[in-house]
Amino acid sequence: MATTKNYYKTLGVEKSATFADIKKRYRELAKKHHPDVNNGSKKAENNFKIISAAYNVLSDKKKRLEYDQTYRRQTRPKGRGPNAWSDPSNDFDFSGRQKTGQQSDFRQTTPEEEQKYDPEFPTRGFDLQFMIDLPLVTVALGGTVPYSYEKYVKCMDCEGTGFVDSEECSVCKGKRLVVEGVTIDVKIPPGIGNIYTLRIPDAGGEGRNGGPPGDLLLRITAEKHPRFKRLKDDLYAEISISPELAEKGGPLEIETLDSVQTIEVEEGTLTGEELRIPGHGACINWGKKRGDFIVKFKIEEE
Ligand SMILES: [Zn+2]
Repeated sequence: MATTKNYYKTLGVEKSATFADIKKRYRELAKKHHPDVNNGSKKAENNFKIISAAYNVLSDKKKRLEYDQTYRRQTRPKGRGPNAWSDPSNDFDFSGRQKTGQQSDFRQTTPEEEQKYDPEFPTRGFDLQFMIDLPLVTVALGGTVPYSYEKYVKCMDCEGTGFVDSEECSVCKGKRLVVEGVTIDVKIPPGIGNIYTLRIPDAGGEGRNGGPPGDLLLRITAEKHPRFKRLKDDLYAEISISPELAEKGGPLEIETLDSVQTIEVEEGTLTGEELRIPGHGACINWGKKRGDFIVKFKIEEE
């Protein structure tokens, strides 16, 4: 499938250019890129073909009108989402109408012209969404966890211009952005729910043409804990005690989510009875308060 690019950009003229302007510009470019004056260079030949194709369309009233209409349809901003990535000026399908079949862009514009004529305006980067499982202690009490993921970042080889020495950047293929793995420290707010979506502003994909980056959304799920269960702000643990301790009562050391506490087992404790340790549950209100830790006794069989 033959794809082609912005013909106005190719010739370095404005959309409002007159036919005379276009003709003049074409002559200048053709003179410069004609294969005969470039020792038959393959690149010059290709450039010449691209210029000619652009001129062929833009110099013909009917073809130009048709092109303008198609181009307008194709370059409508696509907004967020995976499609926002695609370069509208890259995605033209002229198959069946154009036989040039050129694959590479030819660009004659200077950086200022580029800005002036560039129909691509700043586009916000992608929002990225991933799911992560975290230990119950991190979800209930908050913390910082490293997180690695892939996102679009500015291509450093061309410094986000898409070009190196006026050739299409070979690293990003002119897309100005490349996919790269990054690792960030994610701050988990204390006391989020067992299922929670955390939005990290600007940690999503890099924007295009100076547009702002997207956000990173992490759908957090608390991992099952082998000993503790969380119910809202409280944590529950089943603790086995010996029949002797249950009968006579006495002190007992137990481990909570983040500390060791000594509790007093009451005399004559029965299986299923509970003891509440205030302030040792999950965080509430971004850590200003904490729920309770509840011990549920189970008397071991003799
Ligand atoms: Zn690049």
